[in-house]
Order: sequence, then C-alpha cells, then structure tokens
Amino acid sequence: MLDVTPLDERGTAGERDDKLHEECGVFGVWAPGRDVARITYFALRALQHRGQESAGIAVGDGKTVLIRKDLGLVTQVFSDDDLSAMPGKVACGHCRYGTAGAKGWESAQPHLSTIDDIIIALAHNGTLVNFDDLRRELIEMGIPFRSNTDSEVAARLIGYFTQRSHRLRTGIAHTMRMLEGGYAMVLVRENALYAFRDPHGIRPLVLGRLGDDGWVVASETCALDISGATFVREVEPGEIIRISDDGIRSERGCRALSPANCIFEHVYFSRPDSVKDGTSFYLMRHNMGRRLAQETPVDADLVISVPDSGTPAAEGFAQELGIPFGTGLIKNRYVARTFIQPTQELRQMGVRLKLNALPDVVRGKRLVMVDDSIVRGTTSRQIVRMLKAAGAVEVHVRSASPMVMWPCFYGIDTGSQDQLIAASNTLEEIRAHIEADSVGFLSTEGLLACVPGGTDGTCGYCKACFTGEYPVEIPHSFWKERFLPGYEPNNLTPASETSQMSLEEAEKALSQE
Ligand code: SF4
Repeated sequence: MLDVTPLDERGTAGERDDKLHEECGVFGVWAPGRDVARITYFALRALQHRGQESAGIAVGDGKTVLIRKDLGLVTQVFSDDDLSAMPGKVACGHCRYGTAGAKGWESAQPHLSTIDDIIIALAHNGTLVNFDDLRRELIEMGIPFRSNTDSEVAARLIGYFTQRSHRLRTGIAHTMRMLEGGYAMVLVRENALYAFRDPHGIRPLVLGRLGDDGWVVASETCALDISGATFVREVEPGEIIRISDDGIRSERGCRALSPANCIFEHVYFSRPDSVKDGTSFYLMRHNMGRRLAQETPVDADLVISVPDSGTPAAEGFAQELGIPFGTGLIKNRYVARTFIQPTQELRQMGVRLKLNALPDVVRGKRLVMVDDSIVRGTTSRQIVRMLKAAGAVEVHVRSASPMVMWPCFYGIDTGSQDQLIAASNTLEEIRAHIEADSVGFLSTEGLLACVPGGTDGTCGYCKACFTGEYPVEIPHSFWKERFLPGYEPNNLTPASETSQMSLEEAEKALSQE
C-alpha cells in the first residue's frame, strides 16, 4: 500500500533503516465454525516481519463485517477480548510497514467501505502506480476520499463498478483491468472471501487448504504453517479467487502478462522458512552465499553474518570456502527497526540498539561480514567500525544481493535513487565509504542461478532495482523526482498493455454486459 506523504516529511535516507522494506503482509481465511479472528491473528504474527506499523482484522459473520485496526504491532493492537468479540466465518488481516510521516489511523488496513447494502474490507500489499490519475478521475465524478492512499482508490473503484454491475466479482474484475502496478489483495464481505493479484504477479499471494472445508490465502507460506493449512498453489497473476458457501471459484479478472515475481522476496523480504516453487527461501539464500563466495572469494579467518537476515548466505559463503562460520554480532531481538533519529549521535545509537559486536570472537581476526544486501550503506559502515573497535584486524564486506541501483515502485520502500549507495558510486568508492577492507556483491546472473526457474526462464522475475528494467511502465509524474539526472527507467511493458481499460472503456463494457 502506498502512502503519498512527501518524502521530506518521512525522514531522510540516513535517518532511515538501511534496508529495503516490504510495505505489507495480507491474509484471508474462510472457515465456518472456526475462530477465524484468532486464526488471522496468529497468521499476522507470522507475517509481522512484513510490516510493523499497524495491524488490522476484519471478520464477516454472514450479516455484517466487524473490524478492528490500529497503529502498532499485532500483539499491541489485539487483546484476547478483542478477538473474542469478533465471531464469524470469514476474515482478512493486514500488517503494514509505513514510513515516518504516514502515521494516521486512516492508513491502517483493512480498508472498510460500503457499496449500497454490502460492506467490504480490503487488505492490500503493493503499490498502484497510476492511482493518482484514477483518484483524480473519481474525485471529478463526485466520489469522496477519506485518505491519500492507493488502497482507497482500489476500494472506491471496486465500489463504483459493483454499483453499476450489481455484482462484486464484476466490480473487482473491472477494477483489475484499470490498475497498474504490483498488488496482492484480499477482500472480505459479510459472507465471502476474495483474493486477487496483479497481472504480472509482482507481489506474492498463496492459497492453502484448512481442514476439509476451510481455505486460506496469504502473502507467504509461513502464515499457512501457523494456521495449520497446507499449501495448494499460488494465486495466479490476474486471477480472482472467490470462496463462499458455494465453494471455491476461480475466474480471470484481467489477462495475465509476462510473469515478474519480485526477486527481492527471495533475497530478503520473505521469511526463510517460507517456501516458493518447492524450495525454502533459506535454501535459496544459502546457495546465494555459496555463489557469492565463488564470485568474490577472500582469504579470511572467520565468516560472520549480519543477523538474522544475512545468516543463511553467510553459512553458504563459509561452507563454500571452507572458512569457519561464527557469531560475531549479537542482535537485540526486541528492537523492531531503527526509528527516525534526528542526530548522527542518536542514529549511531540506533544501530547499537539492534547490534553489538562480540570482542571474544572477532578480536585479532580477518573477518568476512556477509549481509543480505547493502542499500544505503549507512548501517554497514557503523557495523564495520564496531567490529574494528572490537579488535577485528580486517573486515571484508559481502552482499548476497546484487547492487541496488534503481528505486522500486511496486510496493517496496527504497526512497529515491540518490539514497542508494550503488547508484552513484564505484565499488572502490563504496568500499571506502563503508570503511571495509574489501567489498563484493553477488551478480544478477548469480542471483538468478539460485532462484527456481531463474536461468531456464520457467519463472519470470522483476529485477528492476538491480537493472532498471521495469515490468510495469511508471507514469512520468510518479517517477520524475525519484531518479538521478541522466537516469530513466527502461519500461519493459508499455502502460497501454498493463492498463487493460480506461474508466470510460470500463463504463462502456459494463453497459454492454
Ligand atoms: S523493483 Fe526490486 S524490490 Fe521492487 S518489485 Fe522489483 S525486484 Fe522487487
């Protein structure tokens, strides 16, 4: 979900955590006779790494939709009494990562709205790149907005087309033909669950079976595991799944386009115990570490990771080169993220709040420090300094992702291109900036060799943040201030193909149905 709070109100690059952030996790469950609110609660806890700013659950009991949402972690938003007060047979949930300025309750999801006599709650992961134009058109048509989010644009469009067609499914399908960007959405009404995904499948969404007559959908398979559900398949790009007393139905909302799964899910966003195409993200990351060692070997005494996200790759790196793997950094597990810090001194404390070096392990050693990625470089430099202060004689930094050089427009918070250290610095300049003895990045080819179908073309990936080749065209108004001078996105699919209908054409198609 995108919030359009201006960047300068969100904090600058150095003030923010030195990682890319997923913007949301979504979950839905259809399970009459079961405690759907609690199932959703535990699933959201499994998806908490995808968003820590707000959490919400909406439950349909056959007659109405109850919702509770607030700012904070899942455990802070819901008490046992809250969950007991939400009986029903269908539910959806959402956890959101937001930036500093986007703290309004309105930004929390699911987004609740009414369409004539039905109530819908929409949970959205992703970003709609054409939402500004759509929002303007809808406002001109007299449709009011309560927030500044793209999720509300999707909800209003669904309402608009549902009112005209008198069928929610038709309303969703017509909306999908107009949306551009990456999205995975879960929607509940009083007596049904819907799940749908963008035509490129940029944002993830999986379907699972719960017992004999229950179903779940989720951003990742780790949420199926905690619900006791078994993986069935992915929700297909462009597909709408509807689950109700009539059973499960699948239909095409819009035509599928060339697949472009977000490859950063494999590098960092998804939990290591989640599975994609039969392989855990843990194993893929372990292999990325092995490949990184082949591409950027180094003579050292000990390999350490930046915990926890760098650990699988660090283990693979150590194994490949036959160097011992050890714990050189201890993570404080009770600090969710580095919050906005107004001064350099406090920013440094922010990293120390999360990580501390173990002098007994690193003293006198030539270290390789493996991280999942290096985005802005601010944290890397502080960790290198910390390790050297603890007695390390050399620190060689390795990134298990390729250089992040281009901003993401499909649901990931990268900021603008000038905030990405690899966009305007050579390898040697990056090394000097982070004060390491050497630095190395996995190649894009190397990354593709470690993910299912990455080299034989059986699975298509979005790799735009490494290559600048964007699967969905980004409107100029959306990107103009996000690139450094001289850089322009290379759009792989023109907007004329991704946006399969204008508002006017959708109206005409509806009147002919
Ligand atoms: S640009 Fe990068 S982070 Fe964004 S969807 Fe594509 S691969 Fe994922």
